[in-house]
Amino acid sequence: MLIDVNDIPREGLDFDQDFDFGSFDLVEEEAAFLEPVHSLVSVKKVGEEVLVKGKLTTRLSFICSRCLRPFEYGVEAAFDLAYLPEELDEEKEELAEEDLGKFFYYHQQLDLREVILEQLNLSLPLRPLCSEDCEGLCPVCGQLVQNGQCGCQVNLSDPRLEKLKSFLRDKR
Ligand SMILES: [Zn+2]
Ligand SMILES: [Zn+2]
Repeated sequence: MLIDVNDIPREGLDFDQDFDFGSFDLVEEEAAFLEPVHSLVSVKKVGEEVLVKGKLTTRLSFICSRCLRPFEYGVEAAFDLAYLPEELDEEKEELAEEDLGKFFYYHQQLDLREVILEQLNLSLPLRPLCSEDCEGLCPVCGQLVQNGQCGCQVNLSDPRLEKLKSFLRDKR
């Protein structure tokens, strides 16, 4: 969805837009969309800068990185961005330090779909967890450790347990 930067009116533009993406658009490999991405965005032009402010919501299916079970993940991300024209990108070393974190638009156009996808990907967790205290899988039997009830004797020389023991020792 291309916005022609020169056509942005003085009062700006408002969008209330759904976008359909495929799971191949996501940085998280095992994630899938459960619904389209809903976005509310306002776009303003101030001088050469295009200010893009808004929020996006969607629901994804993730695989928990500890227990490997799928779970639903609600995404809610707000963003407030400034896009500069591409000419400045090429002269980056001349940019003021505060401009270095900024984004760029090319050929006098801004692709709102790309903006939304980028912000969505930036908002995703690096290690998705079904819950903060997910205990993952038992290293012996591979079953869920949930409630600690698989009945396995975990080998006491397990390096992770040794680490935990010394951690607890240090706490005393
Ligand atoms: Zn889990
Ligand atoms: Zn077990």
